[in-house]
Amino acid sequence: MTLDLEAVYTDLHRHPELSYAEHRTAGIVADHLTALGLEVRTGVGRTGVVGVLANGDGPTVLLRADMDALPVQEETGLPYASTARGTDPDGNDVPVMHACGHDVHVTCLLGAVDALVADRASWSGTVVAVFQPAEEVGTGAQAMVDDDLFEHAPRPDVVLGQHVSPLPAGVIGVRPGPFFAGADAVTVRLFGRGGHGSRPETTVDPVVLAASVIMRLQTVVSREIAATETAVVTVGTVHAGTKENIIPGEATLGLSMRSYSAATRERLLGSVRRIVAGEAAAAGAPAEPTVTVGYSFPALVNDASATDRTAAAFRASFGDQGVTDPGLVTGSEDVGTLATAAGVPLVFWLLGSEDPQRFAAALAAGTLDSEIPSNHSPRFAPQLHPTLEHGVEALVVAAREWLG
Ligand code: ZN
Ligand code: ZN
Repeated sequence: MTLDLEAVYTDLHRHPELSYAEHRTAGIVADHLTALGLEVRTGVGRTGVVGVLANGDGPTVLLRADMDALPVQEETGLPYASTARGTDPDGNDVPVMHACGHDVHVTCLLGAVDALVADRASWSGTVVAVFQPAEEVGTGAQAMVDDDLFEHAPRPDVVLGQHVSPLPAGVIGVRPGPFFAGADAVTVRLFGRGGHGSRPETTVDPVVLAASVIMRLQTVVSREIAATETAVVTVGTVHAGTKENIIPGEATLGLSMRSYSAATRERLLGSVRRIVAGEAAAAGAPAEPTVTVGYSFPALVNDASATDRTAAAFRASFGDQGVTDPGLVTGSEDVGTLATAAGVPLVFWLLGSEDPQRFAAALAAGTLDSEIPSNHSPRFAPQLHPTLEHGVEALVVAAREWLG
């Protein structure tokens, strides 16, 4: 391999970019892919990059990495910690950090392409390396599909990808079937009639209405979803009012919903709409409330037989202890959009990145949740070695399993 993984990683980590602003990252990716002799297309879905490595007859494998970072102030104290700032979609100046580890994904995919180029005499087929923008906002994969991803690049036989996680470094977490939750961001606007805080009888108080809605929403998962299903409804934001003696005219709630099947998602959304409408009617609201779905991630579902096949290849390379079933993940990912659009199986896995000794100590002490920073934490800090080498190896092993 010609690539210095640590140098590529620390450079990307120092220079994180928000969703659809991955211009520098995309430039670095395109330069590397071009130098490796791939056919490169840039600006796919705004800032995405696609490299095609054609190596004779055989299957086509799509390898995917996402590139964007998050509006988080890094608190790792690492020598290569980010001090970058960016502009969020509302125009605010915000700190930026690779708190989800997408810099690991980019580095490992570049390393895997490098390794596959170096080793091209021993395999045949086509590798499509997809560097996707805007995973964090849930629209990047769809943006690439809408920008004719599969009209320009060969249609794959399988979509493969990985996400760095707080599992121990050297361990791969993978499971067939539903894996990551579908996620919906829902905004609820409740309308009342404002007035003086001393004369509630002249008003319809949207703060009390919001309180009723919030409490009633707690019954959706507990009373309407089977105990064997997994779902979450969280009210993450509540906004109303400007002053304690003014009853406001309106209240706005921000909800996050998670589910693992389309049927459960529909059930959750239907319940939210029904409860919001019912509570507004009970309050005598002067206008119908609105329920709008913002970003929406489909549930990530790994193809069962393709996952079994790939996991067997992982076990053969990394041993039985190197592969684990981590159970359902309540986080979300839009990689499934690529597989669905291509009409082919998806195999997506977690790449362990935590110091194995620290992980084992926290596990023994029962403090995994408090001691081990997870993705999106300002303290999320993947252990670079062996995580980077292992991530390259995992992509190569998986790709080689499917290539000729
Ligand atoms: Zn993330
Ligand atoms: Zn992520």
